[in-house]
Amino acid sequence: MTSFREFAETCQAIEKTSSTIETTNKVADLLKKVDVEELPLATHFIMSEVFPAWSGQQLGIGTSLLYVSLSKASGMSIHSIESLIRTTGDIGDTALLILKEKRKNQVTFSSFLEEQSELSITEVYRRFKTASEASGKGSQDVKVKNLQFLFTSSTPREAKYISRLALEELRIGVGEGVVRDAIAKAFLVPAEIVEHSFMVTNDLGIVAAAAKKGGIEALESLGIEINRPIKMMLSQISPDIDADIRDMKEAAIEWKFDGARVQIHKNGDSVSLFSRKLENVTNSLPDIVEIVRKHIKAESAILDGEAVAVDEDGKPRAFQEILKRFRRKYDVKEKVLGIPIQLNLFDIMYLNGKTLIDLPLLERRKALESCVESSVEDSKSICVDKQVITGDLELVEKIYREALKAGHEGVMVKNPTSVYSPGKRGKNWLKKKPLMDTLDLVIVGAEWGFGRRANLIGSYTVACYDPETSRFLQVGKVGTGLTDEQLKELTEILSGLMEGGEAGGVFAIRPKVVLEIAFEEIQKSPNYDSGFSLRFPRFIRIRDDKDPEEADTIQRIGRVYSQQLKRL
Ligand code: ATP
Repeated sequence: MTSFREFAETCQAIEKTSSTIETTNKVADLLKKVDVEELPLATHFIMSEVFPAWSGQQLGIGTSLLYVSLSKASGMSIHSIESLIRTTGDIGDTALLILKEKRKNQVTFSSFLEEQSELSITEVYRRFKTASEASGKGSQDVKVKNLQFLFTSSTPREAKYISRLALEELRIGVGEGVVRDAIAKAFLVPAEIVEHSFMVTNDLGIVAAAAKKGGIEALESLGIEINRPIKMMLSQISPDIDADIRDMKEAAIEWKFDGARVQIHKNGDSVSLFSRKLENVTNSLPDIVEIVRKHIKAESAILDGEAVAVDEDGKPRAFQEILKRFRRKYDVKEKVLGIPIQLNLFDIMYLNGKTLIDLPLLERRKALESCVESSVEDSKSICVDKQVITGDLELVEKIYREALKAGHEGVMVKNPTSVYSPGKRGKNWLKKKPLMDTLDLVIVGAEWGFGRRANLIGSYTVACYDPETSRFLQVGKVGTGLTDEQLKELTEILSGLMEGGEAGGVFAIRPKVVLEIAFEEIQKSPNYDSGFSLRFPRFIRIRDDKDPEEADTIQRIGRVYSQQLKRL
């Protein structure tokens, strides 16, 4: 078994460098050292994950639980720990200081413990797992005991990364891209093959272990599996969609529904549903599970579609309503909406033991139609998105108008010969929808309201993402456009994400929640570290279906800013 010390040392070395190449090398060295059985764990750990997102397992360790465990392990009061965090602004640095202090008082053991940590990667995982699975009466105790064990068995440096890992934020900026390149480097396999294996397995831990075990051959034999979600194929806005349709000669035009993306895995009677972020959302959508059981005739299948909330008369309702059902991960009590949900299917990736992603769209389409069984009366609950194959631009425009009139978002324009490319955003799927200036931004700070809203968080500092440095850069504050109910909901969510640090009334918030923000204009501004600010920013909705790293980038903000200048 590999010692957790190796992992902590790698994290520390990465924290000291700002070079991506060096970071990749350090991760590659770690992957080479780790035993193959522990490789999936170490691979997820280094990306700040304890469980792969698709597994549906939630770690669910909050800051207060960590403080209690640290306090029990060190003898320091929770109050002192909290004030230390206010100074350091970071749980990891705090844990390091606390345990160093404790070891100083245990001089006889300290040097021994520093050098002889026995904690293995597997043991850390096992303790986290036991803590996360504890439920019901006495569960708090189990969680604390397991975390306390980790802190008493670790060196101060290990404790630094254990505590950050417990909040699933190592702050070392290692994401999927770095790990993909590190796997290629460590096991001498081409990065494209690693990438492809990742897209079909959606799990770099599995990919790393396969690469170590059997190189290219093992990677190529990795395939799609039921109940392990595949990365979703995505679409892009085209600057000249007519030209793209002409290039394709004929395009497949489908309505673009405004709901929530679902990837459906059916295996006999068992049905699992995954969100756009590939989180397991089966429990939030029991009606979809029923629809799939009733109408999908395949023994096993993986399907792609959009769940839409509909009115009595079948008209789509606001996107917001359906997403409320996904909010469980923030521990907000699920609202029973009682609104009918309709499943619109538009793709199939796997059918009765066979992978279909390498077939052209039109053939996948036939396979999809062959396994959906529904009568006209059933069309309220399930349908296969209507598809028109045409090169006639006027007809495309007509279908687009009809889609908007029927209350949908626009149309999708797809290349009929294209394969299903997991995780890719490219020219094979284009979207045509009315232009609207909104940005998806991440909450990184918050302020309490005043007056009637004194006990609610009333204003949010929002940031864009810089994929080059993996940092979030502030672009402004938003406090308008929210109803009291939305404020309450966000207060509940953000209270669990406060980081301790506070400056000028603004509390630091862990970057987890993405908001869609409308604005009048982007301006240059010295007040925010992005160098930009938004004029009249207004809250539109919470984007539960996006990860913080999928927020709009600093590069996109720069582009929108230059486009604005051209319009003047
Ligand atoms: P947007 O905010 O425009 O939805 P996005 O980044 O969330 O952007 P895109 O990949 O750009 O997602 O747009 C495609 C999304 O449109 C899909 O994720 C899916 O949820 C939705 N959609 C609705 N109808 C279709 C369809 N017929 N084919 C593919 N995607 C569809």
